Amino acid sequence: MWKLWGGADVRARETDITIPIADLDKTVALARGWYEKGFRLFKMKVGKDVEEDIRRLAAVHRALPGISFIGDGNQGFSMQDCLTFVRGVKAFGGAMVLLEQPVVRDDLDSMAAIRRETGIPVAADESVRSLADAQEIVARVAADYINIKIMKTGVVEALEIASFTKASGLKLMIGGMVETRVAMGCSFSMVLGLGGFEVLDLDTPLLLASDPITGGYRYEGPQLQPWAQPGLDMTAEPSPNMSTIE
Ligand SMILES: [Mg+2]
Repeated sequence: MWKLWGGADVRARETDITIPIADLDKTVALARGWYEKGFRLFKMKVGKDVEEDIRRLAAVHRALPGISFIGDGNQGFSMQDCLTFVRGVKAFGGAMVLLEQPVVRDDLDSMAAIRRETGIPVAADESVRSLADAQEIVARVAADYINIKIMKTGVVEALEIASFTKASGLKLMIGGMVETRVAMGCSFSMVLGLGGFEVLDLDTPLLLASDPITGGYRYEGPQLQPWAQPGLDMTAEPSPNMSTIE
C-alpha cells in the first residue's frame, strides 16, 4: 500500500505516546510505564487547568530524564493561558517541541500570536478539517505543522492536504482518532509512501485493551516497523467476546 503512494520514505519510524489528563501520581506512573518501553516523546493532554498542567509536566520531567513534550490543548486554552503554560514549562527546563491546537479552531489570530511569541512550533489539528481550512492556515500564517488525520477528512482529501501543506512549506504531522492498526496502517502507509511526515502520533492501537489484528506493521516499543507483503497485510481475528453477543 505504501508503494501505491510512492514509497518515498520506507523505514521504521517513531511515534509519540499520549498521556491523558489525570492526577499527578497517575500521570507520572503512566508516563513511567511507557518510558520503560522506550518512549521518549510524550504528548501531554493539557488545557483544562494551566497551573495543574505545569505541575503535571514538571513531575514527569523530573521523574524521566531525556524526554520531550508535545502539549495538546485540544482547543482548551485561551491565548493568555497558553503563554502562561509555556512560560511555566520553560521555567522548569522542560523540552516543549510542539504545541498542538492550543486554542479554539477558528481563533487563527491567537494561533499565529502563540507561535510568534513562544518560538515553539504550533500544529493545527481541529483547525484543519478540509483542504480549504489548510489554505486558510497558510494564508494567515497560523501554524507550522498541519496534523493530518484520515478520520477527519477521509483518505483522498488527506492526500490533497498533505500535498498542499508540503508545497506551502509547512510541516506534516499525522495522527488518528481511537483506531485499531487497520486505519492506522493506512495512515502509516501514507507516511512511508508520501514522505515528509516529521511528527508521528500513531499510538492509539497501543491504548486499546487488546489488538484484534494480526499481520501488518509492528510496534517495537515506540518504533513502527514497515511490512513488505501486499496491501496492509492484516487479518482481523474474531473476538472471543463477539460470539457471545446476541
Ligand atoms: Mg489533537
